[in-house]
Amino acid sequence: MDFKEFIRMIPDFPMAGISFKDITTLLKDGEMYRQAIDALKERVSHLNIDVIAGPEARGFVVGAPLAYALGVGFVPIRKSGKLPYDTIEAGYDLEYGKDRLAVHTDAILPGQNVLIADDLLATGGTISTAVNLVHQLGGNVVGAAFLIELEQLEGRKKLPDVEVVSLLSYE
Ligand code: IMP
Repeated sequence: MDFKEFIRMIPDFPMAGISFKDITTLLKDGEMYRQAIDALKERVSHLNIDVIAGPEARGFVVGAPLAYALGVGFVPIRKSGKLPYDTIEAGYDLEYGKDRLAVHTDAILPGQNVLIADDLLATGGTISTAVNLVHQLGGNVVGAAFLIELEQLEGRKKLPDVEVVSLLSYE
């Protein structure tokens, strides 16, 4: 299945020079969305996953159905100030901009095996921050799963000890 046909390229969004990969055109197609999640499930099924963690907002769209398909729990990693209970936080630089991510202190138990999921791996800043939060809670990051990887930005180099799985690669 050529998932790429379902990704819409938006030139100069959100700023000049960025070619944004719009996944909403894949998500709105029920059959393609299901096949994309099933394909990711296949690619991570050998990992011993206790829980999936995904950064808001598009990490929820990939991580939650993947967690459901694997029969494991889902942990939301959110922007600072959004989660209601006690949190730990970490800051990071984006491909375009800066942000802070937070997770509940009791979301991941020490020793749990965690798969991190997001829509897209660019510079790896978002995911390495998520890895940092999982490690702070004592979890093991056993893998990271993405619909899309922007290879040129070499995000996987920021995740040397993590098995990185992506469905689609772009130069
Ligand atoms: P990174 O932190 O540089 O790896 O950027 C990845 C994050 O930015 C992900 O959470 C994505 O949702 C978002 N992102 C960056 N570029 C794109 C894009 O072209 N399409 C969709 N999301 C993007």
